[in-house]
Amino acid sequence: MSQDNTNSSFSTSTRSFYIENLGCSKNQVDAEIMVSALLDRGWKFYRHEPEKASFIIINTCGFIESAKKEAVETIMGTLQQYPGKKVIAAGCMAQRYGKELRDQIPELTAVFGNKIPEQVPDFLENIPGDRLLKPVGNSSFPLRKDLFSFKGSAYVKIAEGCNNNCRFCAIPLIRGPVVSRPSEEIINELKDLLSKGIFEFNLVTQDLANWGEEWGDNLAVLLKEISKLEGDFWIRLLYIHPDHFPFEILPLMKEDPRIIPYFDIPFQHASEKVLRGMGRRGNSKIYLELIEKIRAELPHCTIRSTFMTGFPGEDKSAFNELLDFQEKAELDWLGVFSFSPEEDTPAYKESHTFSARRTRAKGEKRKNILEEKQVPLSEKRLSRWIEQEVTLLVEEEIPEEDLFLSRSVGQAPEIDGLTVLHGENLKTGDHIRARIIKANGFDLEAVALEEGEA
Ligand code: SF4
Repeated sequence: MSQDNTNSSFSTSTRSFYIENLGCSKNQVDAEIMVSALLDRGWKFYRHEPEKASFIIINTCGFIESAKKEAVETIMGTLQQYPGKKVIAAGCMAQRYGKELRDQIPELTAVFGNKIPEQVPDFLENIPGDRLLKPVGNSSFPLRKDLFSFKGSAYVKIAEGCNNNCRFCAIPLIRGPVVSRPSEEIINELKDLLSKGIFEFNLVTQDLANWGEEWGDNLAVLLKEISKLEGDFWIRLLYIHPDHFPFEILPLMKEDPRIIPYFDIPFQHASEKVLRGMGRRGNSKIYLELIEKIRAELPHCTIRSTFMTGFPGEDKSAFNELLDFQEKAELDWLGVFSFSPEEDTPAYKESHTFSARRTRAKGEKRKNILEEKQVPLSEKRLSRWIEQEVTLLVEEEIPEEDLFLSRSVGQAPEIDGLTVLHGENLKTGDHIRARIIKANGFDLEAVALEEGEA
């Protein structure tokens, strides 16, 4: 099939694909929807063998410079390594720079935007002459057949888009304003995944606290519905904006421990001046009070956050404020990014002044200072688990050492430390009781408890 004709003669051998997924958990859900839609249409999925597939889909990320660079490198590398393949650019970079990708990389078979991933079979079977399609509308989130997460764990998107418009962020430009999924649809998906043996549900979107805003509901309403579900599982909340934290979820979490006490709250900074520049309303005092309130309600909770360094206006005293906040907040986990100006965002223009460029140049060094300072803080927080009895989700077996890698409620997939587990006859996806015996750096160590030993 050549690139310029709409497809009428589509042979079975051509109906095969491999997908390279880049970026965040939201992008992963889109990739899983694309895989399921193609499987439903009878396509063959080469999960680990791109060399055997006819189509290679690169599900790109495009929200900051380094991600865009990785996307282009992956596309160029794939085109070089697999010259005969039909390479498709999909995902956020395709959505944001569709025309540019198509025009600047003529070797690309086509470019597919990220709004309705389940439309990918129609697209691949009928590639338009101009090699570009950005579906308009919203995904119906068809049930997924194949997941990329470790066994027993899944990301569940509860909405798409963001209304917060932080001044440094390109995501609203890519994903648009919030479109929440109706709670029935989410419950239906949770039931489907439960029936497939999923134990951990990581709820994701750009800001969980935006859910239901369109019709005046909030996250607590959804969690109440989820709480009515039968069975044993974990609900993990990933990414709640600190400026409108939904306190009404805390009593719900106390009532139903399946909604695990884990919070990913990206404060980004603590200096009022810098936060205002970011289009955020908090400050060090407000954010410390938020942490205090959460810990007062849920003393065993885990709080992860993200800081951004090098943002315009971050002078020495602002950075010292952030260091002081870090000390007082004693976060469990912290990710630090240095500011990367994104075109078309409100902060872009002001990030090119001489002083802004000088501040940005300090971003990397300040990032390293914060990361170094976080090590003992995280280790101190981790040490509180020693001698505790916990439930662990087994992720991987280390066969030659009779050990397993697992995670507790305080360890989110891919971003936090792990728990090395001593146990027998366990398999991936199992969730078992264990006792934490020690902490090693960012990881814990545990022994499995026999049935009834607890
Ligand atoms: S809340 Fe997150 S996704 Fe939304 S605009 Fe702010 S940084 Fe971007």
